[in-house]
Amino acid sequence: MRLILASNNAHKAREFREILAPLGIDVLTQSEAGCNFEADETGETFEENAYIKAEAAMRATGEAAVSDDSGLEVDALGGEPGVRSARYTGRHEDSDADRRAYLMKKLEGVEHRSARFVSAICCVFPNGDVLRARGECPGEIAAYERGENGFGYDAMFIPEGYGLTMAELSPEEKNAISHRGRALREFCRVLEEYSNAHK
Ligand code: IMP
Repeated sequence: MRLILASNNAHKAREFREILAPLGIDVLTQSEAGCNFEADETGETFEENAYIKAEAAMRATGEAAVSDDSGLEVDALGGEPGVRSARYTGRHEDSDADRRAYLMKKLEGVEHRSARFVSAICCVFPNGDVLRARGECPGEIAAYERGENGFGYDAMFIPEGYGLTMAELSPEEKNAISHRGRALREFCRVLEEYSNAHK
């Protein structure tokens, strides 16, 4: 089976492949499928944006498409950056490092640093059928950035029960506990059920 991933984020694509390839599922990014566009993420929830992206990629390619909409929710900031994680500074050209610095500044002097990563996965089939899965990873915002692995806010997020940031974990360790790893394993379960019911 092959699924179009409604994203061109190489880190996300690698995490999808690491978990879906062993099940015999080929994941192609939308640019690999010859489709170069980004759907406007106008939703107010991760679930709404995941559907918008997967549905647009399915329409553009005519194939089953899957997406992940994800982000970081910081309790002391009322859940920000949340669905705005990828564009938190408001400037499209800013880097992940700029966004981490911006968030770190907002949390200066804040003691209560609990947070969670959230991933909402949505798969839309050409016949309109929709599958969904969600995963969360609780933790806290570190006092300073550490680690070189991963992407986004990984270097400033310490998963619950760990003394290391997500960026100090190996890809395998991250997949085992991350929001996306959890959502993907749930997605695999839902997809298998769906495939069995449609044999
Ligand atoms: P999306 O591509 O619109 O879903 O944006 C997700 C954004 O949330 C990314 O650009 C990152 O800033 C952040 N994010 C999502 N997942 C992760 C992760 O696994 N590690 C670090 N940051 C993440």
